[in-house]
Amino acid sequence: MTTPHRRRLGARVSAVILALTVWVCGSFVSGSSTDEKRISIYSTVANYSLSITDRNGQGYVGLLEILDPLGTVRAKASRDRWKIRYNDVESDFATGKTRVRVHGNDFDLTAPFLLEGNRGLIPLSSLTLLLPRILGGPVTYHEASRRLFVGSVGVRFAAQINKTVPPSLVLNFSSPVNPTVATEPGKLRMTFKREPLVPLDTQNLSFDNKIITSAAYLEENGTAEITVNGSAPLFATFSNDGRTITIAPAPHLATQSPNQGVGSSTASPTESPNPNTSGTRRYFAVIDAAHGGDDRGATLDPQLAEKDVTLAFARRLQQELESRGMAAMLLRNNDTNLSQDQRASETNSIRPAIYICLHAAAEGTGVGLYSALLPSGDETRKTFTPWNRAQASYLAASQSAIKILRTEFDSNHVANHSFSASLKPLNNVTVPAIAVEVAPPQIGVSGFNSAEYQQLISASISMALSEARTNLEAAR
Ligand SMILES: [Zn+2]
Repeated sequence: MTTPHRRRLGARVSAVILALTVWVCGSFVSGSSTDEKRISIYSTVANYSLSITDRNGQGYVGLLEILDPLGTVRAKASRDRWKIRYNDVESDFATGKTRVRVHGNDFDLTAPFLLEGNRGLIPLSSLTLLLPRILGGPVTYHEASRRLFVGSVGVRFAAQINKTVPPSLVLNFSSPVNPTVATEPGKLRMTFKREPLVPLDTQNLSFDNKIITSAAYLEENGTAEITVNGSAPLFATFSNDGRTITIAPAPHLATQSPNQGVGSSTASPTESPNPNTSGTRRYFAVIDAAHGGDDRGATLDPQLAEKDVTLAFARRLQQELESRGMAAMLLRNNDTNLSQDQRASETNSIRPAIYICLHAAAEGTGVGLYSALLPSGDETRKTFTPWNRAQASYLAASQSAIKILRTEFDSNHVANHSFSASLKPLNNVTVPAIAVEVAPPQIGVSGFNSAEYQQLISASISMALSEARTNLEAAR
């Protein structure tokens, strides 16, 4: 590790992802079936999604559920009548009737109001009639995709292709976004379940580029989707606090293929199958040689940069793991610089049983073993996990892996300590994730080049991981 390294860690502002409470209506939850019909509501106070009830060939939604996150609501049912008070606006409904009274004015819904139990249901087709009168402001409803915008809350975006080698597609959003990213050969799909994304003027963009060919915007069932098409496996990197997503060819494909010899990196991006999407190879471990390219890491001595030591250890560790039957891949197998977000996103898309980041230090003895130090968050609320707490569900598994590593290092007489640290990109990794910082052996930093020392550290790690293997694999 290095001083600039630590500075970068401190300076990084975590992606502030809008935490959205999914308001689920108590007795009407119909499981989590993926084809369940839903409506999404976007407003300045909350973004949420509700399930649709079908009655008489019409889609209905509970009015109380729509209004509850937006203001103070009270509802009262008596026989066939239902009264609901939102802030100061009183509305009066009768079951089976289209005629309603809102704030003293009568008008007709497009289909009858229904009262089921104490739950008042209104037809989706009447939302744009009813809600402006209750809320006192405009609403926009995308009927085909069931997305309702209360006030002007749209998140706009712009797309720009950089025809560099390799090319990249930069998407800039007017507010932070946190879509679900899925990849399949030739396609990267981002699904926005909770962001009020609004379409571009043109819904299909084609780029005059061979690798990233086109992009399309689509809305359906309460979600918005951006699909990027290309001729190479693509992956997405988040930056600018979640306001920028950069799509580029997956970097490791250019730099490594499984089982290749050290330093013989010749595979090209289009020839190499993506291990994640092809289904041919499941990696037990992702090994991340910290630093690289213009980021040299610590200067261990005038001839020796940390980035080279981490790569040497990473290759050795890969061999050690593979020799014990644990498939391992390197995020970089040459002198390239990956961003911390790239390292996390790539690992998350590969979904190994464990992520191991390797650092080297100029001083100290033995190894430092790190797990993430997460910023505090409210675990009791049903919120979407922010990017800087992505590791939360895996922290316990990361820490138990470290325990086993410590036992193994102890028995090999390697001094070791464990730490919790906000060390990038551990916080953002959605599998068990650890960092190992290797200090020089007794003879000093020149000993980093010693095969025996590399072997001692790498064999200790892989012995420990082979012991932890069953637990790690069961958890994924
Ligand atoms: Zn480092």
